[in-house]
Amino acid sequence: MDIFPDEIYIWQHIEKTAREVAARYGFEEIRFPTFEETALFNRGVGDTTDIVQKEMYTFSDRDGLSLSLRPEGTASTARAVIESGKYADTLPLKYYYIINCFRYEKPQAGRSREFYQFGVEIFGAQNAAADAHVIAMGNALIRELNLKSVALHINSIGCPECRPKYHDALREYFRAHSDELCDTCRKRLETNPLRILDCKSEICSKIADTAPRTIEYLCDDCSAHFDSLKKCLDALGITYSIDTRIVRGLDYYTRTVFEFISEGIGAQSTVCGGGRYDGLIESVGGPRMAGIGFAMGITRLILSMKQDGVLPEPPANLTLYIASLGDAASVKAIEIADRLRHTGISAESDLVGRSLKAQIKYANKAGAAYTLILGDSELESGKAQLKKMSDGSQVEIDINNIAEMKAALQ
Ligand code: ATP
Ligand code: MG
Repeated sequence: MDIFPDEIYIWQHIEKTAREVAARYGFEEIRFPTFEETALFNRGVGDTTDIVQKEMYTFSDRDGLSLSLRPEGTASTARAVIESGKYADTLPLKYYYIINCFRYEKPQAGRSREFYQFGVEIFGAQNAAADAHVIAMGNALIRELNLKSVALHINSIGCPECRPKYHDALREYFRAHSDELCDTCRKRLETNPLRILDCKSEICSKIADTAPRTIEYLCDDCSAHFDSLKKCLDALGITYSIDTRIVRGLDYYTRTVFEFISEGIGAQSTVCGGGRYDGLIESVGGPRMAGIGFAMGITRLILSMKQDGVLPEPPANLTLYIASLGDAASVKAIEIADRLRHTGISAESDLVGRSLKAQIKYANKAGAAYTLILGDSELESGKAQLKKMSDGSQVEIDINNIAEMKAALQ
């Protein structure tokens, strides 16, 4: 992805806000490699997922080892926690990351082959309070970005104990419709019937509307966990709807799954997806340990912010432009600009040999808050007119007194 300055400030605003909110909720940043051994994703994301089956960028290194560009961050975080032995530290572990991910998909609005995620993970907390905590963090970020059209949908998909019974019920239901299902879902019928609920095709989606609902098949423990989550969310004043069609694409989810969905940004409307993955750490070679997290797609956040009309203002970066006429004045302009920069002021002067008129035009275009014009007479007298661009007012300043100039620029 190429992102230019005319958009980067939006990214920076989101990243800064995400870091601030994450810190407030006690999450610390983790960084990990852009690629991992393919086997990690096969186990950690799941062999039956679209990501592993169709979307990974996989290649062999010089030793013939199969590597893949990260399609998401949870498996890598789990691997890092295991490899470092941090799972033996005081629990829970709470991490966040802002990473680029890679998936071989059909590019369209809100879906690209390289994209960015802000993600959080908690390891070693099994109470529903932890589920509510990550949801509250995601919700706080969405509110902080002033998004209005984003709604929270939650569901519980049970655990290895109650899921087989539910899978059987789903299989039975979908088998009766197997002629109508899309080719992919017909295969899913045997391997992973839960995923049919997730299918985007119109006909599968319609059939799924009246399929058995996960929450009616939960075991007592899963049911109590879901009730506890709802109680926590109610106590936090977070509105949600229960959406039994949300199952999430990844194999490792257990119990809580949730999405923040933006109305009206088109087909790719899930800005954030997450859930509990109590089986993950163990399945990638670690101890038995609970986990929960989410990932937000930054492009989709931006689409949603555009739609809600809540994009930040582009920053006004340039405080002073020093225009100059003649070689001596040009050197003086460079000197003053740099001395001001050392005091924390952003200043620019001509670097391409523009005429005085073109320099002023440039200063206007660059949005300079102030301009200063230097020529031979200003060098001689040591005085120049500092012009405030917003109202055209001018004050005389001493061009050799940086402290005075800085004060005049506030
Ligand atoms: P989708 O159903 O849209 O493909 P997903 O279930 O594959 O989503 P996750 O793996 O849960 O997505 O990723 C979390 C978030 O990352 C998504 O909710 C979305 O905002 C973002 N995301 C996923 N894939 C892409 C992509 N190819 N381009 C841009 N953003 C993406
Ligand atoms: Mg996907």
